[in-house]
Amino acid sequence: MRIDVVTIFPEYFGPLDLSLIGKARASGLLEVGVHDLRTWTHDVHRTVDDSPYGGGPGMVMRPEPWGEALDALVAGGRGEPAGGAPGGGVRLVVPTPAGEVFTQAMAHDLAAEQRLIFACGRYEGIDQRVLDHAATRMPVTEVSLGDYVLFGGEVAVLVMCEAIVRLLPGVLGNADSLAEESHAHGVLESPVYTKPPEWRGHPVPEILRSGDHGRIARWRRDQALLRTARRRPDLLAALDPGTLDKRDVAL
Ligand code: SAM
Repeated sequence: MRIDVVTIFPEYFGPLDLSLIGKARASGLLEVGVHDLRTWTHDVHRTVDDSPYGGGPGMVMRPEPWGEALDALVAGGRGEPAGGAPGGGVRLVVPTPAGEVFTQAMAHDLAAEQRLIFACGRYEGIDQRVLDHAATRMPVTEVSLGDYVLFGGEVAVLVMCEAIVRLLPGVLGNADSLAEESHAHGVLESPVYTKPPEWRGHPVPEILRSGDHGRIARWRRDQALLRTARRRPDLLAALDPGTLDKRDVAL
C-alpha cells in the first residue's frame, strides 16, 4: 500500500517512522509520502487560506493549492509517484468532524485500497469544491474520528493510519491478534493479565491459570459480553442474534 498525506504541518508525521509502521515501511509493505501543501502555493507568503464566502468566523483553505497537490499526487509530478491511469486505484480520505464516523469496518475497507491520499484540513476546513472536483476522478471519503472538534486533520490521519496499517498482511507479528481483539466481532475484548499472579493484593482470575482452554474461552466470552453491555450497549444491540449461543443469551 502507498499512503500520501498532504498537510501544512509535515512535522506531525514523525511518528510514521516509529514502531510497527516504521517497520512496515522499512520492509517495503508500506510506502509513505508526506507533502507540505505550501509546496503548491505561488505567492511570497505561501498562502493557503482566505476568508469564508457568506461571512462568519475563521478562515477556509483555498482550493488552488489543494487542486495542484492532488493533480501532482494522482498523475505524478514534483518527484511524486506516477499514478498510472488518472485516479487509478487511489482513494482520497478527508478527515472532518462532519464525516462518517471511523470504525474498524472502515479501517478494513481502506486497508484494501492500493493507494490512499489523506488531505489534512485546518482552520474551518477545505473549500468544498476541492472535494467535489476530486470526486470526479476518484472515490472520496469524509471521515470523522468522533463527535468532537480537533484543531486539524493531522492527528485524525495518524489515528487512521495506525488502524489501517496494522490490518495489512504481514504487518503484525501474530495475525491472530486481529481475530481476538475489540471490534473484531462486534464486542469489546475481555480484560487481559500477565505475570505476576498477584500484584498489590489483586490476583489474576484463577480460571486464567487453570490451563482449561475451554473454560478460559468461555470466561473470556462472558467477560467480553458483560463489558460490552456495561460500556457499549449500542454494540450489543447491533449484534447479529445468530452469533449468540444459549449461554450468551442467558447472560
Ligand atoms: N469548521 C469545521 C466544522 O465545524 O465541521 C471544523 C474545522 S476543524 C477546527 C479543522 C480541521 O480539523 C478539519 O478540517 C478536520 O481536518 C480536522 N478535524 C477536526 N475535528 C475532527 C474530527 N472529529 N474528525 C476528523 N477530523 C477532524
